[in-house]
Amino acid sequence: MMKLARKQVQALTPYLSARRIGGSGDVWLNANESPFDNEYQLNFSRLNRYTSCQPEDMIKAYAAYAGVSAGQVLTTRGADEGIELLIRAFCEPGDDAILFCPPTYGMYAISAETIGVERKIVPLKPDWQLDLTAIGQNLNDVKVVFVCSPNNPTGNLVSKEDIITLLEMTRDKAVVVIDEAYIDFCPEASVVDLLAEFEHLAILRTLSKAFALAGLRCGFTLANAALIEVLQKVIAPYPVPLPVEEIARQALSESGLARMKFQVLDLNANRAYLQAGLGMIPGVKIYEGWGNFMLVEFPDGDALFKATWDNGIILRNSPIENCVRISVGNREECEKTLTFIRNYYQ
Ligand SMILES: *Cc1c(COP(=O)(O)O)cnc(C)c1O
Repeated sequence: MMKLARKQVQALTPYLSARRIGGSGDVWLNANESPFDNEYQLNFSRLNRYTSCQPEDMIKAYAAYAGVSAGQVLTTRGADEGIELLIRAFCEPGDDAILFCPPTYGMYAISAETIGVERKIVPLKPDWQLDLTAIGQNLNDVKVVFVCSPNNPTGNLVSKEDIITLLEMTRDKAVVVIDEAYIDFCPEASVVDLLAEFEHLAILRTLSKAFALAGLRCGFTLANAALIEVLQKVIAPYPVPLPVEEIARQALSESGLARMKFQVLDLNANRAYLQAGLGMIPGVKIYEGWGNFMLVEFPDGDALFKATWDNGIILRNSPIENCVRISVGNREECEKTLTFIRNYYQ
């Protein structure tokens, strides 16, 4: 059957999501999920009807939360669908390219490859900030530039000044996408205010991380109305299942937002706990993180990863030598993980 598929698809290595990798154990800190399992009410009626393409209440609620107008919000099936829509809408397969800066989120490359769009790779500098000179030299044919802040898997914020320079370099040439999947853990670092100045800026958001709704598959793209209008041409006709709309509305209600903010404080405190505890182990280097995860460098990253895995503590290995990405779980999960690693190095 594979022979029938497009050449591009035959050659494709699919995204190895934490779910696909598997594992078994009782501490799951490999997918940057929230440990909080909140309760939602579902009212299953109206399922005989198609849903609205962009449910008004849900859009208004997210716009109010993000501090933008309703016309600047598009909801998608996870931020991942936003990535795909941006590439499909702006890149001509075979002619145009996307540009991204590894180490970073893997789906920019995979979405582009799936669609048949070239990928230009400009690695981050050793301090994990943008290499603006190299980006400037590689902008030929680039229609979409992806920047992730806080960056997955390194955890750092990308300098806002650099983002502004990048936006100035790309005006009338390319769309700049800032992936803010983790911004709810450090909302003051958002670049949402730059929408007022830049027509070619798009910001990706999701309910998967701080809102503890990874299983809901709900994300948002924030941009000016003219850019949203382009994306609306390529989005599926009914992208928002009714249960998603109902749960998103509850999550974005006043009480839902209050609960999310409380949970963020809790997780940020757990991150500080992990950071302090791991930082005291000789030979272990912590990279300060701004999302619900942190990157940690061990003397022997692969061996440590395997030892935790074999003991039911599932972390995420990373492409960076000796580095392991640890999601911030509840306090008990963090304690178990810290205790195991401390003993491992004794
Ligand atoms: C988790 C994640 C996403 C995907 O979010 P979904 O809304 O679950 O599709 C996008 N970007 C980054 C950087 C992520 O870590």
